[in-house]
Amino acid sequence: MKKTIRDIDVSGKKVLVRCDFNVPMQNGEITDDIRITSALPTIRYLIENNAAVILMSHMGRPKGEPKPEFTLKPVAERLQKLLGQEIIFAQSDVVVDAGVEAAAAALKPGQVMLLENVRYRKEETKNEEPFTGQLAALGEIFVNDAFGTAHRAHCSTAGLAAYMPAVSGFLIEKEVKFLGDALEEPERPFVAIMGGAKVGDKIPVIKNLMKKVDTLLIGGGMTYTFIKAMGYDIGTSLLDEESIDLAGELLAQARHDGVNLMIPVDSVCAREFSNDSEKIVCDSTAMADGYMGMDIGPKTVELYSDVIAKAKTVVWNGPCGVFEMPNFEGGTKAIAQALADSDAVTIIGGGDSAAAVEQFGVADKMTHISTGGGASLEFLEGKELPGIVCLEEK
Ligand code: ADP
Ligand code: MG
Repeated sequence: MKKTIRDIDVSGKKVLVRCDFNVPMQNGEITDDIRITSALPTIRYLIENNAAVILMSHMGRPKGEPKPEFTLKPVAERLQKLLGQEIIFAQSDVVVDAGVEAAAAALKPGQVMLLENVRYRKEETKNEEPFTGQLAALGEIFVNDAFGTAHRAHCSTAGLAAYMPAVSGFLIEKEVKFLGDALEEPERPFVAIMGGAKVGDKIPVIKNLMKKVDTLLIGGGMTYTFIKAMGYDIGTSLLDEESIDLAGELLAQARHDGVNLMIPVDSVCAREFSNDSEKIVCDSTAMADGYMGMDIGPKTVELYSDVIAKAKTVVWNGPCGVFEMPNFEGGTKAIAQALADSDAVTIIGGGDSAAAVEQFGVADKMTHISTGGGASLEFLEGKELPGIVCLEEK
C-alpha cells in the first residue's frame, strides 16, 4: 500500500501537488471541468490541514515551448470559483523563474498557487534536469494525484519523488483501490469485457486479464481479429493484421487454462461505416461479403447479459459497438444496462467506455469510473506505473 496525504504531516509545509488539469477547451473556454472537480478533495484536505499548496499540471501538447493556447490560466480561474478562494496563478513562460520562486517562498499555509503548464518545458516529458530540481526547490512534500499521467515518467509525475517525501492524493488512492482490488482479490465470478477499436493496444491487456478472470467477453472492434483467427471470413470489418496470431494464441491459452473466453456469436453489420447504412444481422460464422461488423448482435447481447447478471466483479474496457451512431448503439447500451442492473462491483476503464455509460444515463450506477484511459489500461495490463511506483510504501 502506498502512503497517502493522510499518512504524513503536511501542516506548515509547502506541498507540491501534481494534478491532471488537462481539461477539454474550445475557444478559450473549458467545456468540461470534471478533472478540476475531481482534484478538489485533495486540495481541500491540504488547505484544511494547514499546508501551503503548489499545484502543477500539463495541458495539451505544447511540446516544450510556451504556447498561449495551452496556458493553465483558465484552469486557475475555474478553480478559484470552485474552491471559493484565491488561486495565485504563477504565470511564467519557463514555469519556474525568480518571480515564481519568490511567490512560492512567500506562500502561507492555507494559500493555493498554480504553476504554468509544465509541458512548456522540454525537460518535462523526458524527466530531465534542471527542471525537476527547479520544481523541487519550491516545495517540501510531493503529492501525485494525476492518475491520467501516472503511466508516464515525467519530472512532475515521478522525478520529484527523488527529492522529497512522495505520497498519493485521494484520486490516485481511489483508482489504485478499485483497479487493484479488482485484479488482486476480486469477488468471483470475475468477468472482464474488452471492446473498442484499439485492438493492438488491448490484446496485451487480455493476456494479463486471462490469468485472473473467470470469463472474458470480447466485443466491439476487437471481435473480428478473433473471428479471423478462428478461420472465418469477416467481410470488411475492422482487423488488426498484426494481432491475428496473438488472438489465436489467446484462444488456445483460454482452452488450456479453462478460462471462458467468449467471442460474439453474431453482429449487427453495415455496408458502410455510417449511421445511414442499411443494417443486417450476421452470425459470426457467416459474415456477409461486403459488410462490416458494427455492433454485437442480439444473441450475443443475451448470452453476455446472462454472464454479467451472475458476476460479482465486472471490469469493462471498450464499447461493444459503434455507440456514437444511434443505429449501432444497441449492444453497448444493453451491456451498460446489464452492468447497471447487476449488484456486482462494476469498474469502467477507458475514455470511450466512460462516455458510453454517461451517454446511456447509467454512470451513477457504476462502482468506479476510471479517470485515466491509457493509465488504467496499463494498470490492467499488469504494468507498474512510474507515477505510482515512485510513491512511499506504508
Ligand atoms: P476506450 O476509449 O473505452 O478504451 P477505444 O478507444 O479502444 O475504447 O474504442 C472506442 C471506439 O471503438 C469507439 O469510437 C467505437 O465507435 C469503436 N468501435 C466499437 N466497435 C467497433 C466496430 N465494430 N468497428 C469499428 N469501431 C468500433
Ligand atoms: Mg478511446
